[in-house]
Amino acid sequence: MHPFALERPRDLPGALALRAQSGRNDVAAEYIAGGTDMVQLLQENVRRPDRLVSLGGLLDKRIDVSPQGLRLGAGATMAEVAAHPALAAEFPVIAEALLNSASPQVRNQATMGGNLLQRTRCPYFRDTGYSACNKRIPGSGCSAIRGENRWHAVLGGSDDCIAVHPSDLAVALVALDAVVHIQGSGRERNVALAQFHRLPRSTPHIEAELRPGEVVAAITVPASPVARHSHYLKVRDRASFEFAVVSAAVALEMQDDGRIRQARVAVGGVGTKPWRLPNVEAAMTGSSLQREGLRKAAALAAQGAQGRGHNDFKIELMQRAIVRAAEAAGARS
Ligand SMILES: Cc1cc2nc3c(=O)[nH]c(=O)nc-3n(C[C@H](O)[C@H](O)[C@H](O)COP(=O)(O)OP(=O)(O)OC[C@H]3O[C@@H](n4cnc5c(N)ncnc54)[C@H](O)[C@@H]3O)c2cc1C
Ligand code: SF4
Repeated sequence: MHPFALERPRDLPGALALRAQSGRNDVAAEYIAGGTDMVQLLQENVRRPDRLVSLGGLLDKRIDVSPQGLRLGAGATMAEVAAHPALAAEFPVIAEALLNSASPQVRNQATMGGNLLQRTRCPYFRDTGYSACNKRIPGSGCSAIRGENRWHAVLGGSDDCIAVHPSDLAVALVALDAVVHIQGSGRERNVALAQFHRLPRSTPHIEAELRPGEVVAAITVPASPVARHSHYLKVRDRASFEFAVVSAAVALEMQDDGRIRQARVAVGGVGTKPWRLPNVEAAMTGSSLQREGLRKAAALAAQGAQGRGHNDFKIELMQRAIVRAAEAAGARS
């Protein structure tokens, strides 16, 4: 492991100032929150900062459910958010995504901000024995495109990177139009979660719309009639702490006649960022919960999808996951 100095500032402005001193250079300094991802990356030599700036105890941990919607402080842990009774009742897709993530030990430690900014599980990114990984070493190539790519993306990939964004939480949040509240030295701004994570294009090492030194301070989700009737379905290789092979977050508002008034659909395990599917949502609107209609709508998820060999099966599997998640969400009305 590369040696580093651990900075423990007293307050958030102190942390922002310390990190800002390093400018764009994230080799010089990086943030650490719960540390569940960062410590692994340090141990594996994937990240080699000279200085780690701890956000421990400095971030807002509040969880507020109100008639306006939901607000999650970036320091709230995955366990705290999943166990919040009002959140589980009003936004079940979020609680389910969290309870299907990681292990209880990780959820006790990991934060909302860290969850959105966790790095990909692409094995070539995580293993420095592979020299070609554009995300780890810009310009070095991509070992996955012609290598073992069962875990990789079929949506949003480029010739430079096809790594999947690993967060389950982000898939549920993007379905519900979440907004990320960002804080930097002397400035605050908001970015829709749908725009927060970047497509890899030719710069896969730049993953989020964060400027040097900025932190994720909070996440909000607007109140919506769809949120209560929502479900997160995760398909994984084993039942306990495993990342998604494919997942689907579906939220529905139903009419009295059993038809769908409005739908929100996002998928995970298949996209280079949390992937919203507006074409599927439009096709579900006005349809009933009959499997045939849902299946037709879900088929539109395949538009633009590109398999790379080992991951071809995900194109069919994501459609099935969407149908099953929609049936479960509809049953909640
Ligand atoms: C065994 C295991 C299984 C897992 N399984 C799953 C799973 O099934 N699904 C899933 O979604 N996740 C899974 N994870 C990942 C886990 O959810 C993340 O490790 C965790 O959410 C990261 O949060 P953290 O607070 O520990 O972040 P850290 O490890 O502290 O940081 C992660 C990154 O975020 C940055 N960062 C942290 N907070 C902020 C902030 N507020 N502002 C700006 N930058 C910040 C850090 O600089 C770092 O780059 C698993 C992890 C492990 C170890
Ligand atoms: S898919 Fe992305 S993260 Fe994986 S090897 Fe290719 S460039 Fe690296």
